[in-house]
Amino acid sequence: RLWHQPLKHREWNGTGSTAHFQDIFLGRCYIYTQLVQPEFRPYHMQHTFETKLLIFTSHVLSLRDRDCKKIEEAFRNAFISKDPCEVTEEDYHPLMELASQTVPCDKTVFWSRTKELAHQYTWVRQEMFTLENTLLGYVADGLTWCGDSGSSEMNYQSCPDWRKDCKNNSVTVFWKVLSKMFAENACGMVQVVLNGSLSNAFSKDSTFGGVEVHNLHPEKVHTLQAWVMHDIGKSPSDSCSGSSIMDLKSIMSKRNIKFTCQDNYRPVKFLQCVRNPEDSSCSLRT
Ligand code: NAD
Repeated sequence: RLWHQPLKHREWNGTGSTAHFQDIFLGRCYIYTQLVQPEFRPYHMQHTFETKLLIFTSHVLSLRDRDCKKIEEAFRNAFISKDPCEVTEEDYHPLMELASQTVPCDKTVFWSRTKELAHQYTWVRQEMFTLENTLLGYVADGLTWCGDSGSSEMNYQSCPDWRKDCKNNSVTVFWKVLSKMFAENACGMVQVVLNGSLSNAFSKDSTFGGVEVHNLHPEKVHTLQAWVMHDIGKSPSDSCSGSSIMDLKSIMSKRNIKFTCQDNYRPVKFLQCVRNPEDSSCSLRT
């Protein structure tokens, strides 16, 4: 009696779609478009210079009237009722057009293997933007989603794992398209926070090294500044003089974009020191 059996989704190696996905997506969209306004900003923001505030305000205000339901629908249409291993970049284009957003020049921050630290940095420097500080990055960050070719429901049991199942899955393709667009839209001086506690602070296989670096426009972006940060309490493994950064430097020189690099950039180092005030590297004398 087949018609009585619950619909069986295909089984994949990754975790399934995040429970309450739609509610979280819509809730985050409303928070971003309605509440991330200057008057609702927590007290730590109130001392920001007025000019920076203006840039941020005009940027966020342009999102006020975005229709979250429409954005959610465009998002769903990209992968619902499709084989989650055959999602294409084009599938996400209608969503990208609907929710496109520009970041002011000199304010873009990329990161690779430094997610938490980079976000602490842009949280304190509220005029700066990582991808996750833009609307679509914000709503999708940390979530998993996939559909199924035989059903109009999301698959909450399992989703493709990008290493074990397939690269062209609904989540990976989304981040690829979004990262590409984020890099294409960047202008002026851009920054990247890299992890010097790994043997290769820069990796060509990462999204930063494989997608973002290659989509910066040399006509718009004049300089890439890299900050190589060492975790407090771990021995440094890579630095600005290491070979992985030399690779990045040569890619940038071929792309005609000026490259600078600094180990343990002080504004970011201070954030690490807030958590580890007793560490010797955090004392005034070093
Ligand atoms: P990273 O290696 O720290 O990866 C960031 C996250 O993306 C990790 O959760 C990782 O598991 C996942 N990831 C990386 N490559 C993937 C792939 N091919 N398929 C599926 N998941 C993958 O750093 P990265 O790869 O350089 O990515 C960070 C940069 O790219 C940032 O500058 C950001 O703008 C963008 N990005 C953000 C996210 C996110 O989850 N918020 C994901 C991918 C890319």
